[in-house]
Amino acid sequence: MSQAPATPAEPTWRKIRFRNIDWSTGGGIGILHVGCLFAPFTFTWSGFALAGFLWWLCGGLGICVCFHRLLTHRSFKTPKIVEYVLTILGTMSWQGSPIKWVGVHRLHHQHSDGEDDPHSPKHGFNWSHVLWCVVKAPKGSRRRDAAKDLQRDPVMRIIDRWHFVPLILLAFAVYFLGEFLFQAGWSWVVWGVCVRTVFTYHATWFVNSAGHTWGYKNFETGDDSKNIWWVSLLSFGEGWHNNHHWMQRSARHGMRWWEFDMTYLTIRLMKLMGLARDIIEPNGKGAPIS
Ligand SMILES: [Zn+2]
Ligand SMILES: [Zn+2]
Repeated sequence: MSQAPATPAEPTWRKIRFRNIDWSTGGGIGILHVGCLFAPFTFTWSGFALAGFLWWLCGGLGICVCFHRLLTHRSFKTPKIVEYVLTILGTMSWQGSPIKWVGVHRLHHQHSDGEDDPHSPKHGFNWSHVLWCVVKAPKGSRRRDAAKDLQRDPVMRIIDRWHFVPLILLAFAVYFLGEFLFQAGWSWVVWGVCVRTVFTYHATWFVNSAGHTWGYKNFETGDDSKNIWWVSLLSFGEGWHNNHHWMQRSARHGMRWWEFDMTYLTIRLMKLMGLARDIIEPNGKGAPIS
């Protein structure tokens, strides 16, 4: 009987150990999750509506349109001032430094489902979903270096240096505004900051975990990327992830008529408003499966 090939040992940095934890990132994610425990006791309709609005503003525009399709893949062009405003909105999703976010995602595309992929389910579903971002990156992982273009931009460097400030200011602002308008300051903080960011976290993380585990492929991309409808609903169209791996620079991820891609429609709307140009469309290259 032939022996099964030996699986390579997990590298030490990928093991969940006390000394491996990145406390600044993990602590922030943990506190926001703990804040969600207060959600049932602080529910108000105004807080709920605020959470929905900020999910779209900071997640839909900040993360999907800006961090992903604009900063990482340069799928369209926009005036610099718009780019900076969108980046600040993205920081309010509390997903860390924009330069590092972009670097990590570019490394994901360079090494999809390989050993150097920062978050492949090949190293465990929970790893790809959340654990990878609470563990310190290994030395020489080039997470920031993969976004050298952003590092050359002095304004982007300032936003990146102070990326934690906008959400803290927003938390104070929504407290006082909620208190002033509806006597619902804490409801607005819990729902508008904690519930909303945690919801956006899991929607983003499901692209990395579920989007490389379940679903169907339109294209043979040589990795495990899949299209999965419910992730797309949660993440403004980012769940058409196999299409995206097929043509990474395309602003449009939904390729078939039923693949609803809210982020692409938003970019088209920005074009109508004069805020986006040179939108990159799918060009027909690649290897469609059917
Ligand atoms: Zn992927
Ligand atoms: Zn991408």
